[in-house]
Amino acid sequence: MDEQDREKGPEQTDVDRISEESGGKDPQEHEKICDMCHRPESRAGAMFVMPGNMCVCHDCMQKVFDSVMGKGTDLSKIDWSKVNLMPIAGVPFMGGTIPGMERPDAKQVKKKKEKKEPEFSLKDVPAPHRIKAELDDFVIGQEQAKKVVSVAVYNHYKRVYAEQCRQSGREVPDDGVRIEKSNILMIGPTGSGKTYLVKTLAQLLDVPLAVADATSLTESGYIGDDIESVVSKLLSAAGNDVEKAEHGIIFIDEIDKIAKKQQTTSRDVSGESVQQELLKLLEGSVVEVPVGSNQKNALTPTATVNTDNILFICGGAFPDLEEIIRKRLTEKSSMGFGAVLKDSFDTEKGVLSQVVHEDLRRFGMIPEFLGRLPVVVTLEKLTKEMMVRILKEPKNAILRQYQKLLEMDEVRLIFDDDALDWIAEEAIRRETGARALRAILEEFMLDIMYEIPKDPNIGSVTITRAYLEKKGGPRIEMRG
Ligand code: ADP
Repeated sequence: MDEQDREKGPEQTDVDRISEESGGKDPQEHEKICDMCHRPESRAGAMFVMPGNMCVCHDCMQKVFDSVMGKGTDLSKIDWSKVNLMPIAGVPFMGGTIPGMERPDAKQVKKKKEKKEPEFSLKDVPAPHRIKAELDDFVIGQEQAKKVVSVAVYNHYKRVYAEQCRQSGREVPDDGVRIEKSNILMIGPTGSGKTYLVKTLAQLLDVPLAVADATSLTESGYIGDDIESVVSKLLSAAGNDVEKAEHGIIFIDEIDKIAKKQQTTSRDVSGESVQQELLKLLEGSVVEVPVGSNQKNALTPTATVNTDNILFICGGAFPDLEEIIRKRLTEKSSMGFGAVLKDSFDTEKGVLSQVVHEDLRRFGMIPEFLGRLPVVVTLEKLTKEMMVRILKEPKNAILRQYQKLLEMDEVRLIFDDDALDWIAEEAIRRETGARALRAILEEFMLDIMYEIPKDPNIGSVTITRAYLEKKGGPRIEMRG
């Protein structure tokens, strides 16, 4: 077979006919993947679709025929009506027999559309003040963080738009200015709303989101998840639609846990090496990821994803970072006449907000990694007042949820102000941020939710501080 034939793939009529016979699935929507070499149609060329919906690319089919009928069999000369394709599904090939012949839909990769017009216009992306206003409905406090994130996200999608215009040749003359990626580093205590902020953001922008944990990542080849598994998570969040995934957001939590280990003699496979391997993803590269699994193996189909337009947000609590910042501030200010006492920083609020790359380097993040996260956002530790607001103000506030549940029994649920204060104080004592609020509420709401529906005459229940302190019961009023 000459090179030209190989390029051309099998005769279209053969493929169509075989596909029809086998009831091949929605060829418009999904790319077929070769069940032998796992390359998608866009790379391997037209596919033979066999009974049971098994797909085989031209190259693999050629190899099968070469091994069965002798080298150099010309596929275009084969009379397909006389060939029984069923046994091919059982041919041992490339590391194993193909098990079963059906391919689950979940493992199909959506076809990349021909890029002609930009996929979205800037009108689809709300302006920063709109993004912030929508975030305000859900995320309490963290004003600076919401502002910085809104601007960074807006700029990110402007960059995506500019790239799309450039690729589709629809752009204003190329002035050589390339907007760089605005990946974000989010620093804030646990339970201060980092993940929540990102989730809300993805929801309001209607883009797919993958949340990954940096602690589960290891250098490739070691036990743990490969770096690319984060992209594969995003792909499944996008319903295996490569194009959608390429405009999504990846949030990598616990990023502080991959800081360079101090004084280590063994190979740092989950720290510095992970930072090194993340570099290429953050910057933008083309990766081959398994579809429907986070481990690559011979039998998993793969898809090619370009991370260039994926927004990466890395978050972490960075314990002890405040200490590093204070030390730097003291060192700087203790020189010369303007010396300031060290203790004056200890009481200062928002030390974290004065973080600079140098502090993060001292913490153990490598400079190249930090260089790819140009936007640094800090979230404040939640105060008692913020906790109370979190309980009652967000659109889906936890108190509203309980009130709605009891409303269905036609019972009004009221919380005394000092009861809310007690819940907030208890949450601060537990040191897990706003996450503790739900846990506390669930502890004492269980009895209420169990007892109240017993008596249809109950009209309202008021949760008092005394009830929470176990010094009394809730105030109950009857109907009428
Ligand atoms: P982390 O900073 O550790 O990622 P999360 O974002 O997971 O914390 O917060 C845990 C939960 O606490 C969230 O699901 C959300 O319900 C609540 N929460 C935290 N911070 C806020 C906030 N600023 N406003 C509203 N809810 C919040």
